[in-house]
Amino acid sequence: MGDLKGAMGFDAVYIGIGAGLPVFMNIPGESLSGVYSANEYLTRSNLMKAYLFPKYDTPIIMGKNVAVVGGGNVAMDSVRTALRLGAENAYLVYRRSKRELPARTEEVHHAEEEGVNFQLLTNPLEVLGDDKGMVRALKCIRMQLGEPDADGRCKPFPVSGSEFELVVDTVVIAIGTNANPLLTATIPELKLTKWGYIETDDSGRTNIPSVYAGGDIVTGSATVILAMGAGRKAAKAIHEEPGRQEGRTRAGML
Ligand SMILES: Cc1cc2nc3c(=O)[nH]c(=O)nc-3n(C[C@H](O)[C@H](O)[C@H](O)COP(=O)(O)OP(=O)(O)OC[C@H]3O[C@@H](n4cnc5c(N)ncnc54)[C@H](O)[C@@H]3O)c2cc1C
Repeated sequence: MGDLKGAMGFDAVYIGIGAGLPVFMNIPGESLSGVYSANEYLTRSNLMKAYLFPKYDTPIIMGKNVAVVGGGNVAMDSVRTALRLGAENAYLVYRRSKRELPARTEEVHHAEEEGVNFQLLTNPLEVLGDDKGMVRALKCIRMQLGEPDADGRCKPFPVSGSEFELVVDTVVIAIGTNANPLLTATIPELKLTKWGYIETDDSGRTNIPSVYAGGDIVTGSATVILAMGAGRKAAKAIHEEPGRQEGRTRAGML
């Protein structure tokens, strides 16, 4: 930060690094070959065109039986991507019931239409591997819902003795992302929330003068519209900083 505002001569800095640190389940077997975070799976298959390997350099395991763990829009993207990559069985493993799925109804509907196999009220316990370190199955347990809590959400409980193995060769974990500390850890004076997101005011001002932030790194995973709005608000605030209107503005992106 000192370099940006000092040696490189920028008057203001906007941090918009997103919240791309994948959350894993911390169950045994998550380091087996064939387990992806949704970020990696979608980045490889879409941005890096792994479906055209070897024409493009990035490979991806084109699983025949793929389990995607999670119930949000990213899980729906991942499970439908698995089908497009040629999966014969694409399972959506979610620990609550269809009613609680956080994905948009439209996304769920499209996934159903495309033939996704919904394993609802199901929670993964362990990823099982073969002797080559490749995924061979996902050990799961069936769940049941308890009474609604104060927020109206029903807590899921495991049904004892209901463990079973879902035979899969690929597992995609799509249970959310957190703030990535890679950049924020290099700016010790930057004020963060207890979850590692950057604290700002409504215009994106951080606690460091002329350093702004916005988007997912402030709000947590949200939407493109909100991230764009945050950028516009911060740009306006930067423009209105005393003395900023005089002379030309030089903008750089890192
Ligand atoms: C699979 C998926 C599907 C989604 N679908 C939708 C949707 O349909 N509609 C919707 O509104 N939202 C959707 N979202 C959410 C949306 O993508 C985000 O809310 C939005 O992109 C956040 O914008 P941002 O600018 O804060 O961060 P991002 O768009 O994540 O951009 C951050 C950028 O900063 C870069 N970066 C990170 N660290 C550094 C660093 N140290 N130095 C330099 N660069 C860095 C990253 O590489 C990235 O390019 C989806 C998200 C995912 C993961």
